[in-house]
Amino acid sequence: MPSSNPAHPSRREFLNSIGLIGIASALPAKAVFASGAPSPAAAVKDRAPLLPGAFSSLPLGSIRPKGWLKSQLQIQANGLSGHLHEIWADVGPNSGWLGGTGESWERGPYFLDGLLPLAYLLDDARLKSKAQNFVDWTLNHQAADGMIGPASNNDWWPRIVMLKALTQYQEATGDTRVLPVMDKYFQHQLAELPKRPLRDWGKFRWQDNLLSVLWLYNRTGSAYLLDLARLLHKQGFDWQGQFADFKYTQRITSEFLKLSEGNGLKDLALATHGVNNGQAVKTGPVWSLVSGSIQDRTAILKMISELDKYHGLPNGMFSCDEHLAGLDPSQGSELCTVVEYMFSLEKSLAIVGDPALGDRLERLAFNALPGTLTDDMWAHQYNQEPNQVECSLHHKPWTTDGPESNLYGLQPNFGCCTANFHQGWPKFAASLFLVSLAPDSTAQEGLVAAAYAPCEVRTTLRGTAVHVVEETEYPFRGVVRLSVNPAAPLLFPLQLRIPAWATGATISVNGQKQPAPAAGTFACITRHWKPGDRVELVFPMAPRVSRGFHDSVAVERGPLVFSYGIGESWVKLRERGEAADWQVFPSTAWNYALNVNTEAPEKSITVTETELGPVPFARRQAPVQLKVKARKLDKWRAEDGVAGPVPQSPISSEQPEETITLIPYAAAKLRITAFPLLKN
Ligand SMILES: [Zn+2]
Repeated sequence: MPSSNPAHPSRREFLNSIGLIGIASALPAKAVFASGAPSPAAAVKDRAPLLPGAFSSLPLGSIRPKGWLKSQLQIQANGLSGHLHEIWADVGPNSGWLGGTGESWERGPYFLDGLLPLAYLLDDARLKSKAQNFVDWTLNHQAADGMIGPASNNDWWPRIVMLKALTQYQEATGDTRVLPVMDKYFQHQLAELPKRPLRDWGKFRWQDNLLSVLWLYNRTGSAYLLDLARLLHKQGFDWQGQFADFKYTQRITSEFLKLSEGNGLKDLALATHGVNNGQAVKTGPVWSLVSGSIQDRTAILKMISELDKYHGLPNGMFSCDEHLAGLDPSQGSELCTVVEYMFSLEKSLAIVGDPALGDRLERLAFNALPGTLTDDMWAHQYNQEPNQVECSLHHKPWTTDGPESNLYGLQPNFGCCTANFHQGWPKFAASLFLVSLAPDSTAQEGLVAAAYAPCEVRTTLRGTAVHVVEETEYPFRGVVRLSVNPAAPLLFPLQLRIPAWATGATISVNGQKQPAPAAGTFACITRHWKPGDRVELVFPMAPRVSRGFHDSVAVERGPLVFSYGIGESWVKLRERGEAADWQVFPSTAWNYALNVNTEAPEKSITVTETELGPVPFARRQAPVQLKVKARKLDKWRAEDGVAGPVPQSPISSEQPEETITLIPYAAAKLRITAFPLLKN
C-alpha cells in the first residue's frame, strides 16, 4: 500500500466526531423494530456512542451493475454460482441449513453470503428463490433460547457467516423477521459467551461477528449490543497486537506449525492462516467504531504494510498457501483469502476513508479475483500464483496445502473456496459508492465514488432522490463518465477517489475543467447539482513498473497488472457432473527477462487497445495488450511444474531479443508476472 496520502482523520475531525456524538446522544432513540425496514435507498449511519465512520455503506440494492460488470455477474450466475446447489451436495437440498442431514457447518452460509447479493443485483427470480430457502429455514427455525442454525453443532463461526447474509437480505428486502431474530440471537450469545467462549475460527474471526452486532445496533440502539461488542473484543484474538510487533516475517512451514503432531488448530496455525489474516484486516477499523480510538482505526495501514513487506505479491495479495508464505511469486494465495480481503477492504474503506484502501480493493478485484477463476466461472483454483507456469498434480511449493491446490476445478484441495468465492464480485459491485457524513456544519451529506466500474446508484440525500449513472470501461480504459440526476436541484458534495497512481488525472463538470485533483486523495466537488449534470474523469493510463522479489519488475497500467500469457494446454483430469477438474500445462517458453525503462516505462512499452468483448477478462479478446522487448534466460527453469525463484535483477542474457505481448493478469491462466530485469 502506498504510504503517501493517507486520509487519516485529523485531530480536528476526531474532536468534531466526539462533538457529533454528544449531539446524537441527546436525540431520542428510535423505537426498536417500529417501522420494519429502512427505506431501501437510505444509508443507515453509525449511531451514538459509536465513533462514526468516515462514510456509510449503501444498502444492498442501491447500486446496480451495468456494462461489463453486469456481464461479469451474469457469467457468474450462469456458472457455478447459479448451479452449485444442483451439483454439489454440500449446499444442495440436504444441507443442514435447509433442515437436512448434510453439511451443517460453514458451507451453506458461505454460499448464501454470495448467492444472495448476486441474486438481488441481477434481480434474478430463480436465484432469489434459491437464496430464500436458506434464509427462510434459518429465520423460521430459531431455537427457544435464541440459537440459530442446525442443532447438530453449536459452533459460533458458521453463524457469523449466516448473520452477514441475513444483514444483506434485510437491506434488500426489508423483511421484518430479520431484526427480531438477530436480536434474540445476540441476547443468547451475550448470555452464553461467558460459559462457552469464542474458540478456533470464531476466536480469530470475531470482527465479522462484531460487524453484524453493530449493524443491528445502528438499527435498534439496544445498549446490550455494545456489551456484546466488548465481550467479543475481549474473547477474540488480538490482531492489532500481532501486527504491532509482527513476528511472522518468514515463510511459515508445517514443521514450524508442528502440524504433524495433529494439533492443526493451535493458535499459532490460526494466527498465520491466510483467510484469517484476510478477514482480520478489518479488525482495527470495525473495533474503532466501539473504542472511539483513531489508533485502532488506522491500525489497518500497519497491518497491510507488514503483510506487503514480508508476504506481498504483485497481484496485490499476500501469499497464503495456506499459511503466510513469503515473497516468492511462485507461492500461492487462497481464493477464500482474496474474497475475504476484498470484503475487509470494502468495510474498512467506509470506516477509515483512506483512498489507498480503494486502490488495493481494485487491484484485487480486477486481477487476483478473475485470475483464479475460469472465464465461464465454472472452475476455480484453491491457490493462484503470480508466476504460475503449470497447474498440475506435480509437487508444489505450498506451505501446507495439497497437490491439487492450483488445479482449476470444482473443489480443488478443499471445498471452502467452492462455497465462499461467490461473494467476491457481488459485494464489490454493491460497494462502488458510499455516502459521506456531514463532518462539520458547513458540509452536506454527499456521495462518494469509492471504486470504479459501470453501475448506477439510487439513493436519497437529505430527503431528495438522487440517481447517478456511471458509464466506463475502466479498468481497461481511463475515462469515467457520471451523469448526476437529483430529483430537484440539490447542493451536495460528490467525492471522487483519485488513485495513488493517477498523477495528472483531470475532472470536468459539464465540459468545464475543474482544479487538478491530487493523486491518492478524494477530489470533492460541492455544487448545486441539477438533473443531467455530467462529470468526466480522465485517469492517466501510461504503463508503470513496480519492483518486487529479487528486484524483479511487474508491469501495471491503471489498476491492472499485466502478465506474459504462457501457451496453455488444458487437460481434463475428471468430470464433476456439469463441472470438471482441469490441469493446465505450458505449451510455450516462459523464462523471459524484460528490457524495460524503469524510469520512463512508456518509452519501452507499446499499448494497444482493442474492443472490450462479452467476457471482460478473457484471453481470446484481451482488451489491452502491451508489447515489450525481452530475452529468454536459460538458467531460469521450472522444477516439478514450479518456476524457480525469479533470478536477481538486473541480469544479462545472450539470447536474441524478442518482442513479447503482455495481457491482463486475469486473462493469463498460465503466466509470468514478476520478471527479471535485463541489464542495459
Ligand atoms: Zn478456501
